[in-house]
Amino acid sequence: AEEVGGGDKEVVREYFNNNGFQRWKKIYGDTDDVNKVQLDIRLGHSKTVENVMKMLTEEGSLQGVTVCDAGCGTGCLSIPLAKEGALVSASDISASMVAEAQKQAQEELFKGKDDQSLAPVMPKFEVKDLESLDGKYDTVVCLDVMIHYPQSKADGMIAHLASLAENRLILSFAPKTFYYDLLKRIGELFPGPSKATRAYLHAEADVERALQKAGWKIKKRGLIATQFYFAKLIEAVPA
Ligand code: SAM
Repeated sequence: AEEVGGGDKEVVREYFNNNGFQRWKKIYGDTDDVNKVQLDIRLGHSKTVENVMKMLTEEGSLQGVTVCDAGCGTGCLSIPLAKEGALVSASDISASMVAEAQKQAQEELFKGKDDQSLAPVMPKFEVKDLESLDGKYDTVVCLDVMIHYPQSKADGMIAHLASLAENRLILSFAPKTFYYDLLKRIGELFPGPSKATRAYLHAEADVERALQKAGWKIKKRGLIATQFYFAKLIEAVPA
């Protein structure tokens, strides 16, 4: 079996089923019990989701379009996708995350709506690591998951996700630039109690090379940056 960073994957699974689940559920939610840093990350991440929705909807309606949301977390992207009529297959390595996503989707998509004929299609949620995903989707999206992959493993992950996509692949990752690398090193000197996993930054050139090797090219690029949240967003299409 493929191991992320030699056993890292087990650590990541364990983290996102326990401490990481509690931490990220709060950040991705809308309650007030977040600190300044968490609030800033919430804002940055919601901008990423917004940008992805804009990227996808400006190319045409999502009604009936199949989308794979790999590493779906609590469903921040799956739910708005379903609202636009997309047929969403959402999966995550963490059973806690998937259960939470399922619960939130049920609430946000169906609660208080009497006319079920206008109801969106409930995303199909599954506990699965993205290495074992299969099938074909019009669009594959993988947001803020690459941070758990060293570049040596990210290449294979990118190739695998590309093999599942027919038309579009959207990825976000923490960019490796001199400045962010420095910030990350400083952050590592003062690790918070709930930041238990390693974080990997990725150089855009490395991601682009991995896409090219898989026969894909970058069509759009964006950068989302707040004080504590940095994400490079990339839309790739078959070359
Ligand atoms: N994509 C979601 C979003 O943007 O709202 C969640 C992002 S969260 C920072 C990272 C997620 O990736 C976690 O839910 C974690 O469980 C999941 N994850 C990490 N490694 C994974 C893997 N190998 N396969 C599937 N999911 C994974």
